[in-house]
Amino acid sequence: MNRLATGLLALALLPVLVGWKFLDPPRKWADDDPSREDALPIKYRTGNETPFNMNDQDKLDLVQGSYDRWGSVPCSSVRAEHAGVLNNQPNWDGPYDYTMISFEGNLDTGINAAAKTFTNAGVVPYNGVNFYRIASMEVIFNSGIRWGTPEDVRDPNCFNVNSFLATGTHEFGHGLGFGHSCESDEPCPEASRRLATMYWAGSRCDGSREDLNEDDMAGTQAAYGAAVDFVLEGLGPNGTVGAAPLDVQVTIPDEFVQQMTVDGSGRRFTEFEVNFGDGSDHVVVENDGDVPPVSHTYTSESQYTVTVTGRGDDEACGGEFDAERRQVAAVLVCDTPVPAFEATNLGDNKVELVNTTPLGAFGCITEFTWILDGDEASALSTYEPTWTFDEPGTHTVTLRAAGHGGSDDFTTDIEVTASADGGCSASVGGGSGGFLGLFLLLGALRKRR
Ligand SMILES: [Zn+2]
Repeated sequence: MNRLATGLLALALLPVLVGWKFLDPPRKWADDDPSREDALPIKYRTGNETPFNMNDQDKLDLVQGSYDRWGSVPCSSVRAEHAGVLNNQPNWDGPYDYTMISFEGNLDTGINAAAKTFTNAGVVPYNGVNFYRIASMEVIFNSGIRWGTPEDVRDPNCFNVNSFLATGTHEFGHGLGFGHSCESDEPCPEASRRLATMYWAGSRCDGSREDLNEDDMAGTQAAYGAAVDFVLEGLGPNGTVGAAPLDVQVTIPDEFVQQMTVDGSGRRFTEFEVNFGDGSDHVVVENDGDVPPVSHTYTSESQYTVTVTGRGDDEACGGEFDAERRQVAAVLVCDTPVPAFEATNLGDNKVELVNTTPLGAFGCITEFTWILDGDEASALSTYEPTWTFDEPGTHTVTLRAAGHGGSDDFTTDIEVTASADGGCSASVGGGSGGFLGLFLLLGALRKRR
């Protein structure tokens, strides 16, 4: 046995015994933009060195063949294409913005190849998981060991020959976001995990891991298999952000409605379920080939997450499946802000203005403005300013809170003193709470709209 090592950092695996694993944290390729390097199809460059015991054409064919193993899983969206030959310069000094397959004669003894994925700031939500977006993968093969084609490793006289196809398939599996089905130091009772291409080790003169097994395929379908998507639109002037009541609608694009099963026997999705995330009943729409938009009205302030589940039964995709897509924080319904503050004299006409406005849902209030003695031109935009007035006495202070639910002012007179407030607090009014205390402390309060 020799190691099919990986150079992936932080390969802490989830404590589950269900076979295939995502790398931790989960990462995957996005499949929505063929013109981009960081999207499927993977556009890989190869180093121009030819590994020991190989010829150049076999090398190129087997690299493509290794990618195609992942692409030929039923329902898989994985595709890869050769994008050119580079001078062979293997190193790990990434991140690289393109995928590179190179060859290195001086890898540690026993390491056939190693893989790294590089992620960028993107997020790929897919079937309920938020994946980091893979920008590129780098795989380095040990060019100094004996490599062979599928025929070579099955030759009865095979001696010490490593399957280039099996190793490539394993390493590209890492580059697609998969960890090992079992690690060297963990119990591995299930044959499906031990025989997986993503098992941590492989044998020489053994072609059995050149083909993905059911465990590898289940992982592929989870990350690159059946997926649904939807369009969320607000029907009001400000889209999906605004004051309640807020009307939205969910549309399932026709490409998902009309998608066929792998064998062409029917539509892949038999129904769609929409969850608007506000506790209302989920809306289930049967897919008879015509799925009208589903609309909904939000009535109270919050951030909501809309989830659409596509349900289907496709033998080739592993039978019954749920494909889930969420749009997080897509809808922000906001009430009109209710600005409020308290004032504390610090001495020498200096006043601390304490913002007590309820903030509501995150993001609803976008701006606070303090207007002192009616002077809008010198208004302060600090959340909680401390201000020194020119002279003691009565001063008028307005706090304006503005955001997606509108804008409102709270104006009151405060008594500015040359000496600090001593031992006096807003609770002076007794047990009836801060607002009454504030009232007693500050004198006349009025609220203007
Ligand atoms: Zn590995």
